[in-house]
Amino acid sequence: MKPYLLFFTLLITTSVFSQTTINRDPEIAKMVNEVSADSLQSYINTLVSFGTRSTLSSQEDSKRGIGAASNWVLKKFNQFEKNSGGRLSAVIDTTTIQPGNRINAPLLLGNVMATLKGTDPNDHRIFIISGHLDSRRSDVMDKTGDAPGANDDGSGTAAVIECARIMSKHSFPATIIFVAVTGEEQGLFGSTFMANKAKKENWDIGAVLNNDIIGSNNGNETNIVNNTRVRIFSEGIPATATVKDIARIRALGLENDSKSRELARYIKEIGERYVDNLEVKLIYRTDRFLRGGDHIPYLRSGFTAVRITEMNENFNHQHQDIRKENGIEYGDLPKFVDYEYLRKNTALNLANLSNLAKAPSAPQRVEIEVKNLSNSSSLSWLAPQNGNVKGYYILIRETSSPMWQKKIFTLEKSITIPYSKDNYFFSVESVNESGNESLPVLPAIHAK
Ligand SMILES: [Zn+2]
Repeated sequence: MKPYLLFFTLLITTSVFSQTTINRDPEIAKMVNEVSADSLQSYINTLVSFGTRSTLSSQEDSKRGIGAASNWVLKKFNQFEKNSGGRLSAVIDTTTIQPGNRINAPLLLGNVMATLKGTDPNDHRIFIISGHLDSRRSDVMDKTGDAPGANDDGSGTAAVIECARIMSKHSFPATIIFVAVTGEEQGLFGSTFMANKAKKENWDIGAVLNNDIIGSNNGNETNIVNNTRVRIFSEGIPATATVKDIARIRALGLENDSKSRELARYIKEIGERYVDNLEVKLIYRTDRFLRGGDHIPYLRSGFTAVRITEMNENFNHQHQDIRKENGIEYGDLPKFVDYEYLRKNTALNLANLSNLAKAPSAPQRVEIEVKNLSNSSSLSWLAPQNGNVKGYYILIRETSSPMWQKKIFTLEKSITIPYSKDNYFFSVESVNESGNESLPVLPAIHAK
């Protein structure tokens, strides 16, 4: 069979393929345009108005504390429900956490969660955007003093709300969950509860985008001010890799090809396709040096998850009581958030969630032929389980390249390409008529 090839883009730099020949899906472009810096600012101002959102703070007070904040987020989701044709539904999903390291008494904890049900009843995929609603003071056990948490993680929570507002008016074949978790600062309790539940109930989670601290454009010591770059942290060796998995990773040089890292590459490609003046930087680490976040419980449960975080953190404004010392202002206040930057980072999430949830599912049984030694490589696959497929993209990159370098379109379900598997990595994506790609699948070995 002679494969029908359409070479979309060829490029030689280390960056993602040139996007000039791949059109923006007009529906996604329209939603991206609706992301509003003003809306995001108003959400953050309201979140800060609850005084503190410490997970240990009052759950009964109607004006102050985590209870009031949770109810407000739920109310926002319920407002969006009206425009969703009955597809969006919201709850506060609760559990009780026993006393431990950062919790001194049994604690009722709730994740505020809105689910936009997919329109294809056979498509069970779920894509999740997460931020944490809780905030903290310098003393993480202080549950009464002001803890504005405008950026950490009012920014992530605002992004979750804004994506829900815009996306709930549209329909997607796959399901999307918008969640503001709590208990992050006390020890990732809300996300752990949700990830454990997802594992137990066998949720088909395609991707988790954890947004934590995505709204400030400057670092305190470096004085770098820049609102055109954002970081995606992704794990290398999967947290759940078995000894056998690790042997395969070592044998094939797959240290940079975990599912979460493929998701990070995908986020960069799609984000830069739809959001102008935003460069996505891949950080080859699970999280920042010796630190953690809400994507980690999902990784531990075997799901694909990344952390999205601003480029330059300002530690004077993070986990700090509001005060002035030696002329320096401390505290996580709304005035330190760059709402235009937050708009772009929210749009990055929206574009990716939409592209993922509109795309067909990934091709199945992707395999590479290894029976004969050859300088060409032969790949084969089966159609995806869900969605209408226009064709497939073959992604190619050199072993030392951080990003996929070539993207070849084919209508077939097999291909032979003049690139040696010794020198390149390959993967395959499904793509539909509107150009929405699935996540890529690396080939398994076919020896027969
Ligand atoms: Zn945080």
